[in-house]
Amino acid sequence: MLIVPEREIAALMTRDAAFDAVESVFAAMAARDAYNFPVIREAIGHEDALYGFKGGFDKTGMTLGLKAGGYWPNNLEKHGHINHQSTIFLFDPDTGMVRAMVGGNLLTALRTAAASSVSIKHLARKDAKVMGMVGAGHQATFQLRAALEQRQFEKVIGWNYHPEMLPNIEKIANEAGLPFEAVELEGMTEADVVISITSTFAPTIMADHIAPGTHIACMGTDTKGKQEVEAALLARSTVFTDEVAQSISIGEAQHAVGSGLIQESDVHQLGAVINGTHKGRTSDDEITLFDGTGVGLQDLAVAASVVDLAVKNGVAIEVDF
Ligand code: NAD
Repeated sequence: MLIVPEREIAALMTRDAAFDAVESVFAAMAARDAYNFPVIREAIGHEDALYGFKGGFDKTGMTLGLKAGGYWPNNLEKHGHINHQSTIFLFDPDTGMVRAMVGGNLLTALRTAAASSVSIKHLARKDAKVMGMVGAGHQATFQLRAALEQRQFEKVIGWNYHPEMLPNIEKIANEAGLPFEAVELEGMTEADVVISITSTFAPTIMADHIAPGTHIACMGTDTKGKQEVEAALLARSTVFTDEVAQSISIGEAQHAVGSGLIQESDVHQLGAVINGTHKGRTSDDEITLFDGTGVGLQDLAVAASVVDLAVKNGVAIEVDF
């Protein structure tokens, strides 16, 4: 069995490798060569922690396994560890024997950023120039860094509920050589691509905040009850997602479907666009919306990729197990 510790991931994993892994697995999911197992998420009644498992099997990439982890709200204060903790386990699909144990904290941010990037590659207008960010927390920096590689952006605009956090994303824009401007939500209509990555339970982005022709990736809503955008925006958009079952139950589409504004059949898999079985964007005026809920297969795909890199670089720890 191989171990790739959390401390090694930053030096091994690249945004390009994460992008390729996630794009491939979305395609495999749409081709029905890969599927996610039902998600388990439990409040364990200790330390206010939420703990659970996300797993799946990808026959194309031959990845089988799960990510175990969750959220410990007191970690940083009490123990000096980050609040989100996860570990990915890979198994040999031929024998069921454990193949690898991989640190999952940084990989989670990289695979989540890769998902919105894949959506931008396949759904945003080719001439997109203004990148809009709603959110400026931990994930937002990863999201913006990856998104800026997808088009020839000339400017980044941003809004955050806590404006004092905006320098987090201004720094990323400036590192990419782009100017940054803080805007009101009404000013988001200037953006050609928008990423929302917040933890809100009440929508902040209204349908009028998004201009025709925009691609918006909604990445924050991954739990029942969370909502970043007004449900009317989904009715006005062509809606894509990683996994339809998750989109309508724990993703952004839970609200639009629940209130009858759209049907489950209006939510399309991004993988179908990658495979060419869905036409994707069909006009420059269309709003495309990607509801990124986060699936276990994304975690397995990036973990498998990092195990290969760790072996190649001689940093995988081999344990007789
Ligand atoms: P964080 O705590 O670092 O940042 C939270 C962000 O939400 C900040 O920008 C904050 O200002 C904003 N926010 C908080 N309360 C708000 C409110 N009431 N209204 C509007 N904005 C508000 O968190 P993070 O690690 O960056 O995660 C952000 C979200 O992304 C979380 O909801 C998390 O669960 C989700 N997430 C999704 C995936 C996925 O695969 N889709 C993966 C990881 C995290």
